[in-house]
Amino acid sequence: SLHLAQRTHRIKPSPSSMAGQRARELMAQGRDIVSLSAGEPDFDTPENVVEAAIRAMRASRTKYTDIGGTPELKAAIRDKFRRENGLEYGSQEVIAGTGAKQVIFNALMCTVEEGCEVIIPAPYWVSYPDIVLLAGGKPVFVQGSPRHGLKLQADALERAITPNTRWLILNAPGNPAGCVYSEDELRELARVLLRHPHVWILTDDMSEHILFDDRKFKTIAQVEPRLYDRTLTVNGVSKAYAMTGWRIGYAGGPRDLVYAMTKMQSHSTSNPSSISQAAAAEALMGPQHFIKERAAIFQQRRDRVVALLNACPGVTCALPEGAFYVYPSCAALLGRSTPGGKVLETDEDVILYLLDEENLAVLQGAAYGTSPHFRISIASSMETLEEGCARVRRACEKLA
Ligand code: PLP
Repeated sequence: SLHLAQRTHRIKPSPSSMAGQRARELMAQGRDIVSLSAGEPDFDTPENVVEAAIRAMRASRTKYTDIGGTPELKAAIRDKFRRENGLEYGSQEVIAGTGAKQVIFNALMCTVEEGCEVIIPAPYWVSYPDIVLLAGGKPVFVQGSPRHGLKLQADALERAITPNTRWLILNAPGNPAGCVYSEDELRELARVLLRHPHVWILTDDMSEHILFDDRKFKTIAQVEPRLYDRTLTVNGVSKAYAMTGWRIGYAGGPRDLVYAMTKMQSHSTSNPSSISQAAAAEALMGPQHFIKERAAIFQQRRDRVVALLNACPGVTCALPEGAFYVYPSCAALLGRSTPGGKVLETDEDVILYLLDEENLAVLQGAAYGTSPHFRISIASSMETLEEGCARVRRACEKLA
């Protein structure tokens, strides 16, 4: 019989992939499902990027490349970090992988072992704790402050650090709550980190360009150069360039760490797809104007969805500062009864009720570590979003 390794039992499947699959199954059964669970932009990959991939294929750039990325892509990544983040990395200080997910996986697998703690501010992107667990480490969750948009506060960080802390993971604009740290807020966190030189910082800047209300993005190694030597700055093309399926993510960081990550990757996937690398280089070096246009569209959707949700009795929704999700609280729905007589006790009960009663697929806050909330993706047309919010409202109005 099949014997699964212990590490397999430590982790669970990604809830967002599971929810997507469940929604597709229900649709296949003929149910009129509105799914607002997607974690990817609904826009197309830009035409110049697609053309670059086609050119690469025609030019037979279809062979193995250097493990950590072609010289062309590495140059584009270094240029991006310099241009947009004021960060200088040498060619041995950057790595491209099969999505930011693999880059983060490499970094944690190379550095975390039994007895290591990794501080993960909640709410968090679902993969961080499971990757830490796979590596044998212990995720240490620190709840963000509801009074500060669910952001990590310096005093809470200070309390969470122990001699065993290896990493702090930062993610802004954050998935799922859209947290963005201002330069001052980063400075406060940096002040704590400077006092604890054994703690490294993994900053996941994936949604850097999906930013609202004219906010300016800052990343921690830029704000506090004294942290540069122990910061891994992770980014990718998935969200900014609508390239989730191309699977290219990258990072800049200390040479020894990047070397270890490259070695790890050399025995798992080798280089990321050569064709996708050519496309990603074009994305980073080509025209950038559509990024702001798309962020403006996300902002219009955010404004509308937050207003519609706040009109639903029992739902309270804060205004996210970036990324393409909203993360309303459903605390006031708990304890209420559905038309079928079930009492809603958790945010998971709430999302199952929305699915059963109104054919609306969203994700429970419990999956992201902060309850009772649910996550709605705004990476859908305004029409679909309005229909989704109408369903939330009907469902709320039916509760006794
Ligand atoms: N980091 C965050 C915060 C994300 O939300 C996602 C995707 O959902 C990723 C990383 C993974 O990105 P990639 O497609 O580059 O693997």
